[in-house]
Amino acid sequence: MNSAPYVGRFAPSPTGPLHFGSLVAAVASWLDARAVGGRWLLRMEDLDRPRCEPGAADTILRQLEAYGLYWDGAVLVQSQRDDAYAAALDALKTRGAVYPCACTRSQLAQAPRNHEGEILYPGTCRNGLPAGAIARAWRVKVPDVRTRFHDRIHGDLQQNLAHDVGDFIVKRADGLFAYQLAVVVDDAFQGITHVVRGADLLWNTPRQIYLQTLLGLPTPVYAHVPLVTNTAGQKLSKQTLAPALPETGRGAVLTQALVALGHPPPVELAEAKPDELLTWASAHWHIENVPTRPAVANPASAPDNSASLPAHP
Ligand code: GLU
Repeated sequence: MNSAPYVGRFAPSPTGPLHFGSLVAAVASWLDARAVGGRWLLRMEDLDRPRCEPGAADTILRQLEAYGLYWDGAVLVQSQRDDAYAAALDALKTRGAVYPCACTRSQLAQAPRNHEGEILYPGTCRNGLPAGAIARAWRVKVPDVRTRFHDRIHGDLQQNLAHDVGDFIVKRADGLFAYQLAVVVDDAFQGITHVVRGADLLWNTPRQIYLQTLLGLPTPVYAHVPLVTNTAGQKLSKQTLAPALPETGRGAVLTQALVALGHPPPVELAEAKPDELLTWASAHWHIENVPTRPAVANPASAPDNSASLPAHP
């Protein structure tokens, strides 16, 4: 149990504007922090420069403000944090916890995959680069033991990193630091005590806990909120053409987000503005009422969700 004062965060990737699924994650982490008088920090995860969209970071900040989701302090921007990630990689090198890897994507194309469709690294470079091969990426050696962790929504879980993930990348072949390393360094740097985020990241948690252990960093308390899917059962994302959050009818959209989180507002709040809805929800927030099953976004009941805005490419 973590007894430090609550510090939560929202960490969007500025690959496009926020959509309904990202609103659900933002609302959950905001409410979980505000319900206990905690701080709520913002981090722009613009690490994967090629995937970022110009202007999206500013759009996201405006969207959060428009929905009443105000944050504390300055926004931490990952593209300005390479020195911190490099220092963490050096620490891992000193410990002998990482090794250079020369494998190309095409060489790994036939490798087995885990239940999330990720490549299970076969360990080709674990004991040294093949003769003449050039190092491209850095991987962390994972142990063949069960990592146990507790999620406040999903309960007690465990994963064997060696069986289910394999040695994973902490610095990519294109020279960019990997999400797994950056998120761990930044959660510690920002003093995050509680992570509340989408369930698509649930099975990233053991990797992050393992890196925290290697780097001597604290492990926050985790909660993974249900993913919102479209009517075809796909996660809402840029790839599945999820529309940007609408700029009108925000109270109705926020109500839908609260419904997805198992906190339907009372009928008296049917016409309420975002601020009133958030005040009600932070007074009634019980994370144990958040369902584990994904919610389906129903554009028909979220006014303007698809009508007034073009699908985001
Ligand atoms: N940047 C990640 C995303 O937008 C979230 C990372 C996290 O919350 O740990 O999916």
